[in-house]
Parts: sequence; structure tokens; C-alpha cells
Amino acid sequence: MLTSEVENFPGFPDPVMGPDLMMKMKAQAERLGAQLIQEDVVRVNFSVYPFEIETDSRSVRALSVIIATGANPRRLNLESEMKLMGKGVSNCAVCDGFFFRGKKVAVVGGGDTAMEEATFLSKFASSVQVIHRRSDLRASAALEKEARSNPKISFVWDTVVTEVLGQNHVVGIRVKNLKLGEERVLPVDGLFVAIGYEPNTQIFKGKVELDEKGYTVVRNGSESSVPGIFVAGDVHDFRYRQAITAAADGCKALLDAERFIKKSLEAQTLS
Ligand code: NAP
Repeated sequence: MLTSEVENFPGFPDPVMGPDLMMKMKAQAERLGAQLIQEDVVRVNFSVYPFEIETDSRSVRALSVIIATGANPRRLNLESEMKLMGKGVSNCAVCDGFFFRGKKVAVVGGGDTAMEEATFLSKFASSVQVIHRRSDLRASAALEKEARSNPKISFVWDTVVTEVLGQNHVVGIRVKNLKLGEERVLPVDGLFVAIGYEPNTQIFKGKVELDEKGYTVVRNGSESSVPGIFVAGDVHDFRYRQAITAAADGCKALLDAERFIKKSLEAQTLS
């Protein structure tokens, strides 16, 4: 819902806007009989069967559940960042990199995502400055090497972004060197914030197995640690994070859920 033009979803020869793609998916699911309850889930109980899912206004029982709550990109939490989101500030180079052909961009972060974003952006942008709050990268050796050997990519160490400048589009960023305390303005046309993701798994803590970063652990296709609870999309996938990969995950999870329900109904009939 938050991305602009999606260029790589199969079946769309022209780019499709994220919200339009979602509306089409919703209409397709409804045509096939899906019922959408647009409420926040506040509690789940996976230790009873059928499983129990509660919103503020109702409780739903389910023979199987697919967790597809996604992950949110971490923000710098600057007012100017939010004001210029989609107007030069982005969290996704694959989605928005194309708009920065021949322009100067900055990437914030020192992890794998930041290196991947910087390398991807260098195909379009005239220059890419990576702004990192320390002087050591957290990224894997291979991705670091690739970024460091790219002549379009340079690094600004020990530095944080304090303000994104511009009224209707980004014209620069104000940065502060944490060691020297000095502030300066870097003229750039785009800012890619790549400082990690927070998987939306707060309500699943203690209910299914999560890894040390809070992502849902998946085994054998789409299975969570609880039989009958399946997982799809960015809530477990920190690597690919594309609409197409999440949609494919959803298909796999549904096939697994169908098989699970069939088996559990057969077992009930026998007993
Ligand atoms: P990450 O590893 O958590 O790195 C986040 C980076 O952003 C760190 O360098 C961190 O700085 C910096 N940062 C965090 N909060 C910040 C803030 N408020 N202001 C400024 N900088 C901030 O996140 P990630 O790069 O998204 O990677 C997440 C996971 O996905 C990792 O396990 C990674 O290996 C994996 N991943 C793998 C691939 C791949 O294999 N191709 C690609 C992408 C991601 P510090 O270093 O100082 O903490």
C-alpha cells in the first residue's frame, strides 16, 4: 500500500501503483469468496483448536491461520523525512531507483540493505553517498567489497542525517559528524533510508517461534513452529522483500493450509 510504481509484478507490462495493485488483489480474493475484516488483531491463541483470533470487536475461530503481517522499514524519525516521503525520500531502491537517473542520491545505513541499495542505485544515479553513523560497516564482506569498489559510491563516516531539505521535493540533507560535532549540507535529489526493518510480530511473541530479530521462523515451505499456522511474506523474509515474492509465498501458504485442514477434518471423521 505504501509503494509507488511497481515495475516487476508479472502480468503488468506497464508499471502499476502499489495501492492499485492491492485493490485488484482484494477484488480478486473477494470474487473467489474471501471475506475481509478490516480490524487490528489484538490477541491470538494458538494453543486451542480451532485457533482463536481476537480483534477489539470480535473473536474469530480458524482451522488454519496464515501470518502475513509484513515488516515496516525503520525510520529516522525526522519530521522532514515524513514530509518528503515519496517526494525524494524512499525506503526502496528497487521501487524508486529508476526516478533518479543521472541524479545525486544518499543512502543511510551500514548494513547489507544499505550496501545493496547503494549498489542498485549506482546503475541509475550519477553519485551515491552512503551516510553511516559509525566508521565500520555491519554489512557482509561480499556486499561491502562490491560497494567499496564501485566508483560511483562514496562513504560519509561517523555521520547522521539531522534534516531532509526541500519543500515539495528533496534538494539536500543536513548531516552531522558525530566525532567533530560539525554540521553541513549535502546537495542530493534523493535520500534512501536503509536502516533495517521491524517485523510485525509483536502479537505472536511466545505463540510461534521467532528469530533473534523478531522474524517468524519458517521450515519446510511455509510452516511455523505450530502445526496449522503458516507464514507468508516479509514477516519471515528479510532477503527478497518484493510484492511478487510475498504473493508467491501466499500461494504456498494457502496450499499448505488447505492440506492441513483436509487432514485435520479427515482425522476428526475417523475419531
Ligand atoms: P541491519 O543489519 O540491522 O543494519 C541496519 C544499519 O542501519 C546498521 O548499520 C545500523 O547502524 C544502521 N542504523 C540503525 N538504526 C539507525 C538510525 N536510527 N540512524 C542511523 N543508522 C541506523 O539491517 P539490514 O541492513 O536491513 O539487514 C537486516 C537483515 O537482513 C540482516 O540480517 C542482513 O544480513 C539481512 N540482509 C541480507 C541481504 C543479503 O543477503 N543479500 C540483503 C539485505 C539484508 P549500526 O551498524 O551502527 O548499528
